[in-house]
Amino acid sequence: MAKVYFLDLREKYHDNVLQMFDRLLTFADGMKILEKKSSCAVKLHFGEDGNVNFVSPLYVRRIVENIMAAGGKPFLTDTTTLYSGRRFRADTHIELAREHGFGFAPIIIADGFYGDEYEEMNGSKIARLFGDITTIFCVSHFKGHLLTGFGGTLKNLAMGCASKGGKLNMHSKSKPFVDRNKCTFCLKCFDYCAFQAVKKNKKYVTIDQNACTGCGGCISICPERAIKFSWDAASSDMQESLARYAANVIRYKKIFYVNFLINISPNCDCFHTNEPMIAPDVGILASFDPVSLDQACYDFVKKPIDRIYPDVDPTIQLKYAEKFDAGERNYEIFEVENT
Ligand code: SF4
Ligand code: SF4
Repeated sequence: MAKVYFLDLREKYHDNVLQMFDRLLTFADGMKILEKKSSCAVKLHFGEDGNVNFVSPLYVRRIVENIMAAGGKPFLTDTTTLYSGRRFRADTHIELAREHGFGFAPIIIADGFYGDEYEEMNGSKIARLFGDITTIFCVSHFKGHLLTGFGGTLKNLAMGCASKGGKLNMHSKSKPFVDRNKCTFCLKCFDYCAFQAVKKNKKYVTIDQNACTGCGGCISICPERAIKFSWDAASSDMQESLARYAANVIRYKKIFYVNFLINISPNCDCFHTNEPMIAPDVGILASFDPVSLDQACYDFVKKPIDRIYPDVDPTIQLKYAEKFDAGERNYEIFEVENT
């Protein structure tokens, strides 16, 4: 049975919350993943432009300080997005991260400038950086999610650590296609595609679905955002893919996981708007087991999650993650003193 450490923030407390957070990290012995003077990736979501529900940089700064105090060399990291926006490319992603208050530590975008740098791990297209880094501090915001019921650590590991092509695999069974009305025939995608999957007609390009590997690079390169994909993966298929990617990312790595069950929004931090919360804050949970951690968080907010997404069974991702040896669903809660 895995251990899940819990800082309960539902009741009145009198201590400094950041000091209580320090106590949680110490209580759980989270820094034992570190090796002195070696790099540690702090994997997080910097928040979409216009959304302020992401994990506060005040907590993340505290994690960075704890890692440094333990002799590690931390840096912050996330990957580029499939959809257009400021997190679509590395340069604007870093710019937004700094605007959101994360400028206190080095920031590296794990799948390269365009999101097309990946390492194939057991069939998953994982952002290149995670092929090299073996020590990760995984920081996740637990909240609702339109397609998977909830998004927590497993989603952060899977979608959050995949290259564009990996995200494409998980989100959609189809390959990208070209919107002819938007294509200006600049041929940037034609020159870019290493697989000769982009074909020229007289006035526009098309994508040969047989030649295309789904790497996703052309989606970034197109200046007109004319290359698109359909968000058509059914929830259960997507949850299975998520679990598979998460299991492949964590293999052979030392990882400590922290879930923030606060600002519990109905949708993920990729939304560019804020919406009314679906439940009051619960607290902060941590574990060395990503499956137990998400299971414990879901158990705390099952009612509001199931109420807003009655047609989605979010336990599918947990069952598959357990099946793929990412962790176990059985857990025991250990509560840290909150006064
Ligand atoms: S990069 Fe975009 S606009 Fe240029 S040819 Fe390709 S699809 Fe058309
Ligand atoms: S997604 Fe397909 S068409 Fe686009 S660059 Fe990759 S292989 Fe080429």
